[in-house]
Amino acid sequence: MRVRRALPASVRVGALAAAALVIALNGGLSVDAKAGSNATVANNARVAGDRERTRFIADLSKKVDVHVALGNPYRVIVDAPDVNFQMPDGIGKEKRGLVTAYRYGLFAPGKSRIVIDVSGPFLIDKAFVLEPRDDQPARLVIDLVPTDEKTFQAKLKETKPPQPASEGPAVIPQALPRAPDAKPVVVLDPGHGGIDPGTNPNGVPEKEVVLAFAKVLKAKLAATGRYEVYLTREDDTFVPLRERVEFAQKKGAGLFLSIHADYFPNQTEKTTGATVYTLSEQASDEEAKELAAKENFSDALAGIELPNDSDEVVANILIDLAQRETQNRSTLFARSIVGELASRSALHTRRLRSAGFRVLKAPDVPSVLLELGFLSNPDDEKRLTSDAWRDRIADGVVGSIDGYFAKRVARSPF
Ligand SMILES: [Zn+2]
Repeated sequence: MRVRRALPASVRVGALAAAALVIALNGGLSVDAKAGSNATVANNARVAGDRERTRFIADLSKKVDVHVALGNPYRVIVDAPDVNFQMPDGIGKEKRGLVTAYRYGLFAPGKSRIVIDVSGPFLIDKAFVLEPRDDQPARLVIDLVPTDEKTFQAKLKETKPPQPASEGPAVIPQALPRAPDAKPVVVLDPGHGGIDPGTNPNGVPEKEVVLAFAKVLKAKLAATGRYEVYLTREDDTFVPLRERVEFAQKKGAGLFLSIHADYFPNQTEKTTGATVYTLSEQASDEEAKELAAKENFSDALAGIELPNDSDEVVANILIDLAQRETQNRSTLFARSIVGELASRSALHTRRLRSAGFRVLKAPDVPSVLLELGFLSNPDDEKRLTSDAWRDRIADGVVGSIDGYFAKRVARSPF
């Protein structure tokens, strides 16, 4: 493969079509435009070219500042403030040239991101935003060319995309002080969001299904008057896994429930119902292990680098110290959900399954992950998106939370 010379990694590219290069300090390729007061709309995108040169183009309602960086595994990470994505359904799955897929969405409040997956080592040869002209919209254009692994790795080091502030070494955040007679705090965690749609490639995305359910559940729990209830996300925003864990810890949560929906491409008619998972170092079975890998991929999908090995080791030691009692409580809560959902004939299996879900890793907060059902099953998809089902299953989960706290009070002094 011929190695091409690409733009230096740390440059800011003027937004005008014939971009002038100016050295900047922030790394990566930045494309500037004067920020407008209202959000830019991105309403279409496409990929053109071949493996020698692949062009990604997004149509925009106006020019916008973007920051373009390399990511690992092979991907382009495009960050921009406040882009409102109104793309056609099903876009981003077509393989062309070096591009295997792309996705987009809110990455954090006010920050939007596009992640373009690339099939092998590559360089960004050009990146610019064109002014709207005649009947053409403003356009973000990124040209990719192949390179070798060594060159890719060297460029990657120069162009780190901005990481969430929390991605340092593991520290257990201090919970807010709470009165002894305060209501228990329940944190509900609708999975995925923003740039990470979750599963269900051809239907209602998992992120929407789980948010809708979490909102119903929150309202029901709050209506009992017995709990303080929080959601890790209230809208279609991406939240890194570790921030979800930290959110629960900071709130002083007595329970954390991560809410998801599964997708099983084989035997779609037969595979149905909810499954309850807890954290374990060793997965209970191969399917649980694969599911955890899929759910844990959320951060990588959004272009966040995972903590390095030493951070994981530190985190695991902390977990071992604090976790035995938390594990027992998590299992108690998981059994309580299984009981309630079994009585509503809503379970895939009564068996408690476990695996290394990163979102369940708060050492001090009993945590359970609930897969509501299988979006690969057309009947489950209908149920999971219906008000009646949400109502019935949310009642079951409220019952299981009541049951958990009743048992916990009976068994233990705290
Ligand atoms: Zn999920």
